[in-house]
This record gives sequence, structure tokens and C-alpha cells, in this order.
Amino acid sequence: MRSENRITGLFGIRFPLVQAGMIWCSGWELASAVSNAGGLGIIGSGSMYPEVLRQHVRKCKAATDRPFAVNVPMLYPAVEDHIRTMIEEDVPIVFTSAGNPATWTAQLKEAGRTVVHVVSSVKFALRAQAAGVDAVVAEGFEAGGHNGREETTTLVLIPMVKDALSIPVIAAGGIADGRSMLAAMVLGADGVQVGSRFVCSEESSAHVRFKQRVADAGEGETMLTLKELAPVRLLRNKFFDQVRSAYTAGADKEALKELLGRARAKKGMFEGDLDQGELEIGQVSGRIDRIMPAAAIVDEIMTEYHEALEELGAFPRFDGQGSRSDNNSPV
Ligand code: NDP
Ligand code: NDP
Repeated sequence: MRSENRITGLFGIRFPLVQAGMIWCSGWELASAVSNAGGLGIIGSGSMYPEVLRQHVRKCKAATDRPFAVNVPMLYPAVEDHIRTMIEEDVPIVFTSAGNPATWTAQLKEAGRTVVHVVSSVKFALRAQAAGVDAVVAEGFEAGGHNGREETTTLVLIPMVKDALSIPVIAAGGIADGRSMLAAMVLGADGVQVGSRFVCSEESSAHVRFKQRVADAGEGETMLTLKELAPVRLLRNKFFDQVRSAYTAGADKEALKELLGRARAKKGMFEGDLDQGELEIGQVSGRIDRIMPAAAIVDEIMTEYHEALEELGAFPRFDGQGSRSDNNSPV
């Protein structure tokens, strides 16, 4: 039986399981723990000043000799500094997101890096492939944080992207356990990216109040909002209610910007202000109920994946010879 595929081969990892780069949640401790456990750990650099990123890359390298990556949202104000740091510090794999992959891919590839771009539609996936990336992350509407404007769900997005592209596809959005991982791979993904589940890891740099809030969250507690600025999926809290009231009162883009202010994500996720902070998390938070070590999360997901794979063999085959046709058969 095969024990590797296009994603394990591309990154040099044991499992096609990627931990998402998440602002304020995924520093070197989480990334190195996931890489040591056989997945691909990612440092989320969107919330890090350039020197902070350099420190995290160095600490990650000291904590693991396995491959790891850095995610850079291209909206980041000092994106050039981050690209330079990643080249200087020999970061082997770079995930870019929220921007045009044509801007940095060639330079990163010339420097010998593996480049992956995060997309939310077939249109952007094709653009990323044309820019020369090695793989894409196709992220559906269920995902937390910044999200696509088209609101395409993972179930719809993955087969569409798979059919349109020749490079490997990593599915993201709504994946938190072995069953959802296998489902995404049945849809055509070569690997999966998991975010919310790793927010609830012991090594995540999120504030413990935020981790516990995610573990406590139930069905229907997240919503996509602020589409006029940058669509973002948030847990509902007092800040979310203020945004909703502003919409009811007919707020325009400028008023929404003013209400959002600055550093709301840091306030909520890093400082643990559950009322006034921005609490970015995926829909799948409704299925997460424990804070666990990152390695145990990787282990559990892979065990469930293999159990689910075994069960597939027992699924019924509908050959049209079932009981209804028996009942109707002529005597
Ligand atoms: P250290 O605490 O040893 O700090 C390493 C570097 O980060 C130093 O250059 C330090 O600057 C700087 N730094 C420390 N705290 C902050 C801060 N609050 N804001 C900006 N820069 C900071 O290393 P750690 O590995 O423990 O973590 C470094 C820091 O990175 C954490 O304290 C945290 O603030 C931040 N962090 C950010 C994450 C994110 O997603 N953006 C995730 C995890 C951590 P100086 O020498 O001046 O102290
Ligand atoms: P804001 O403009 O509200 O605040 C900027 C935040 O980023 C501050 O908390 C600031 O830390 C920190 N920061 C780190 N480096 C810099 C820098 N060079 N210049 C200015 N601020 C910096 O932005 P958000 O918090 O909403 O988003 C921050 C970044 O994260 C953006 O690049 C955004 O694109 C990205 N992002 C990515 C998401 C994802 O899903 N991948 C989701 C949401 C945001 P401090 O307060 O210590 O000054």
C-alpha cells in the first residue's frame, strides 16, 4: 500500500497534513511541534514585525530538523521585509496568501524555495498555477479569518479546483479530524490544511481564554462579516454585535473601518479580550472541544483517517439489485 503522495513528496513530510499559518496563534512553538509530529508546521507571519519573524524562524530551526514553512499574507504592510528575511534565513517552504501570486513567486523560486499560494476560487487557483507555484491551498467558506468573497464551500471548491489544475491541491476550511481529512481527499485533494483545531493546541501562542472559548463554541457561533473591508469569519461576541448594529444603521465602509480600529485581532486572540477583540476562527470550532498537545492532534487525526479508510470498504454498493427492485420483480 502507498505511504506517500504528491504532498508528502513535495514537502518531505510523513503525513499530508499542514497546520495553517494563523496570525497570533502559530509561532515557532506550534510550527516545530507539528513538523516534529510528521505534518508541516507553519509560522504565521502576518502579525509579526520583521525582527520577530527572524527570531521565530531561528527558534523553529533549533526546535526541529524537519521541514517547516512560513505563511505571509500579501496584505502585510512590510511584505518585502518578510520575503527578504525568509530568503536570508533559508526558510524552505513559503505559503503566500491574500494577494497576487505573480508578485513574489518568481523571486522565491529563483531562491530555490517551494512556494504554495492560498486561494478561494478556481480563477485564483489558475492564476497561482500560471505564476509557477508548486501547489495551492484551496480554502472554502467554512474557514476562519480572512475568507473568499465568493463564499464557495469546501465541498464545492475542491473538486472544481482539482479538475482545473495539474499541480497538487491542499484542501482547507472545515477540516479538523480524520473523517473530514479523508472526505477532502476523496474529493480530490492531495493533502489538507487544518487551522482551528491547532488554535486549541497547548503550543499555540493564542491566549488561553481564546483557546477555551474556541473549545466551548457550539454550532452556528461563527459568521462571516466585514465583507466591504476584507471578509472575515468571527466568533460572535460584543464586538461582533457592534458590527451588526452598525450594518443595521446603514454604516458605510469608512464607518466600518473606524469601528474596527487597529489591532482588534491581537486584542481578542493574543490578549484574550473576548468581548472587544476580533475572534477569528472557523465554523468547525463547533466540533472542537479540547485543548491538546499538537503532536496528539496530529496522531489523533491520522489514526481517525486510517480508521475511516478501513470503513470505506464496508460502504454499500448500489447495484440496483436492492430490496425495492426485489419487491417489484415479476412473479
Ligand atoms: P522572545 O520573547 O525571546 O522574543 C523574541 C523576539 O520577539 C525579540 O526580538 C523580542 O524583542 C520580540 N518580542 C517579544 N515580545 C514582543 C511583542 N509583544 N511584540 C513585538 N515583539 C516582541 O521569543 P518568543 O519566542 O517567546 O516569542 C517572541 C514574541 O513573538 C512573543 O513574546 C510574542 O509577542 C510574539 N509572538 C507573536 C506571534 C504571532 O503570531 N504574531 C506568535 C507567537 C509569539 P525584544 O528583544 O525587544 O524583547
Ligand atoms: P491591524 O492593521 O488592525 O493591526 C496590525 C497588527 O499587526 C497589530 O496588532 C500589529 O502589532 C501587528 N503588526 C505586525 N507587524 C506589523 C507591521 N510591520 N506594521 C504594522 N503592524 C504590524 O491588522 P490585523 O491585526 O487585522 O492584521 C494584521 C495582519 O494579519 C495583516 O497583514 C493581515 O493581512 C493579516 N491577517 C491575516 C489573516 C489570515 O487569515 N491569514 C487574518 C487576519 C489578518 P502591534 O499591535 O503589536 O503593533
